[in-house]
Amino acid sequence: MNYSVVDRSDVVIVGGGLAGLTAALDLAQRGWQVTLVERRHYPFHRVCGEYVSNEVRPYLQRLGADPAPLNPAAISRLLVSAPGGRTLTAALALGGFGISRYALDEFLYQRATARGVTFRLGATVTDVQFDAAADEFRVALAGGEQLAARVVLGAYGKRATLDRQLDRAFFRQRSPFVGVKYHLRLDFPADLIALHNFEDGYAGLSAIEDGRYCFCYLTTREQLRRHGSIPALEAEVLGRNPHLQRVFAESERLYTAPEVINEISFAPKTCVEQHVLMCGDAAGLITPLCGNGMAMAMHGATLAAGHTDGFLRGQVVRPALETGYTRDWQRTFAQRLQVGRWVQSLFGGPRLTDAVIGTLRYAPGVVRALVRQTHGSAF
Ligand SMILES: Cc1cc2nc3c(=O)[nH]c(=O)nc-3n(C[C@H](O)[C@H](O)[C@H](O)COP(=O)(O)OP(=O)(O)OC[C@H]3O[C@@H](n4cnc5c(N)ncnc54)[C@H](O)[C@@H]3O)c2cc1C
Repeated sequence: MNYSVVDRSDVVIVGGGLAGLTAALDLAQRGWQVTLVERRHYPFHRVCGEYVSNEVRPYLQRLGADPAPLNPAAISRLLVSAPGGRTLTAALALGGFGISRYALDEFLYQRATARGVTFRLGATVTDVQFDAAADEFRVALAGGEQLAARVVLGAYGKRATLDRQLDRAFFRQRSPFVGVKYHLRLDFPADLIALHNFEDGYAGLSAIEDGRYCFCYLTTREQLRRHGSIPALEAEVLGRNPHLQRVFAESERLYTAPEVINEISFAPKTCVEQHVLMCGDAAGLITPLCGNGMAMAMHGATLAAGHTDGFLRGQVVRPALETGYTRDWQRTFAQRLQVGRWVQSLFGGPRLTDAVIGTLRYAPGVVRALVRQTHGSAF
């Protein structure tokens, strides 16, 4: 690696999703110089169900980034349907809000810019090396520029080429899941999040800002391959659920081509890798049916920011920074991730899903407990 450094900060954050943006705001608020590298330009769409648990509200308020000016939808009820159409409903104790990532990420980016965070947009990190002698990182960008920082946060999402460069174990296994997202206009209660199951997958539907709805589903690459195209998959598989058939028949699609991602892995990961503190999906992705990934990304960001702050102030040395962060991260999220994987396994084949929903509809206490186990408290 060439050591000519063009920019030096206290912290470099790789990736500007919710983990990266909130960590940047948090660290800048604590007085640190932060550079965030994001390979895209805001605003942009992402594959995401866009339902955010209310547990993040106090944190966003402390960061001066309450999303209320964006007019998010207030969501307080859950409906789950089996592939054949059988449903269960439940009140959501804490509830959440619906907001597009297009609007939310842009909003946080503007707030972080105003707080003094330096953004490198349209820039890709290609390599991160820890220089033990200098006790700092060298971060290489595509095109040859280099950054230096005492701490690097890896907030680059579920799977990226940097994982290969860091030789992370989960990267060697392929994941069978793909995700698809549209925005829709349709007649549907704005306070309800619906989770409709179909063979080998499930689709979430909930309101976002401006009277629009987010429609997002997870299925397998194999299902998509078998049916040849997204329209065929939707007609031949999703459309067998009568609730989804109604969505397709009665809604207007607000952009022509859907957003699609693949290689969505729920495999356990490590939260410190070669001295880089991972947060958000880079540290671990909860199954989307839990609707908690964004809250976890922000919660992980504040844990990383707090530990980083202590290290930069000289209160702890690097090994204590790394073990302290790992311990806190595991304590906060490990059980949630495990329950999420287990809940997803209940929604496997159509028969099992139908039986589970048929049973749970008469056990509201169990449904409430499952929601509680896959969410955190306000932080
Ligand atoms: C189908 C699906 C539905 C979901 N629905 C919900 C939901 O309804 N509610 C919920 O709470 N969660 C949901 N989630 C989970 C949620 O989307 C994620 O947990 C959350 O977006 C994680 O944020 P993040 O900041 O970790 O990563 P991301 O938002 O993925 O951000 C990572 C960023 O890093 C950038 N990047 C990557 N590599 C580099 C590099 N080398 N250099 C520079 N930049 C780089 C990327 O461009 C990206 O902007 C869903 C997930 C899926 C797959």
